[in-house]
Amino acid sequence: MTTFTFPPAAQAAVAVSGTDARFPVHRIYCVGRNYAAHAREMGMSEREPPFFFCKPADAVVADGVAVPYPARTADFHHEIELVVAIGTGGRDIARERALEHVFGYAVGIDLTRRDLQAESKKSGKPWDTAKGFDRSAPIGAIRPARGDHPTRGRIWLQVNGQVRQQGDVADLIWSVPETIAELSTFFELAPGDLIFTGTPAGVAAVKPGDRLEGGVDGVGTVTTSIVAA
Ligand code: MN
Repeated sequence: MTTFTFPPAAQAAVAVSGTDARFPVHRIYCVGRNYAAHAREMGMSEREPPFFFCKPADAVVADGVAVPYPARTADFHHEIELVVAIGTGGRDIARERALEHVFGYAVGIDLTRRDLQAESKKSGKPWDTAKGFDRSAPIGAIRPARGDHPTRGRIWLQVNGQVRQQGDVADLIWSVPETIAELSTFFELAPGDLIFTGTPAGVAAVKPGDRLEGGVDGVGTVTTSIVAA
């Protein structure tokens, strides 16, 4: 039996609707600029090859749990996203077979230190401090796919009851199968991987005291609030 120098960290996990069994998170991949209107608001043209970044697995925050306002930012943004939960791994997955690798779907928020991201873009430095920080990935319960894969449905986010982001997952530039196929050429996907598929337009800043609620119609919802550090 393996012994460790100290007890290993708890396995990061996400609730699954309809069961007490939790989805153990292996990695968190994220797609950048995957809705045309958001790509435009970030100053880019519409269809470029998808690009990926990562968050640590333990960045997940359970539904309803508050997020402390993070250090080192004055421009802390929400990005509501459809999240794909991978159940069967693989590499070089064919687009036509990609959905066979999906365990289910959830709704997540890709929390972003926008000021640090802007600085990283300007200076050609990595995005990790802008995207991969602690508690940067609130996520609602995973709905098992069971053959039902969303190709349309309103994606929305409200802050304090006011609609901030709104779109439709039908408007993803790179569809879920295309994203899985492309991602699997860079990384061997594994059971437990989560893929944040990108955000529609309307990203904006939040502050302590704000309550965030978002969803994808037919998939689920996610809620969190921002509290003072
Ligand atoms: Mn995002």
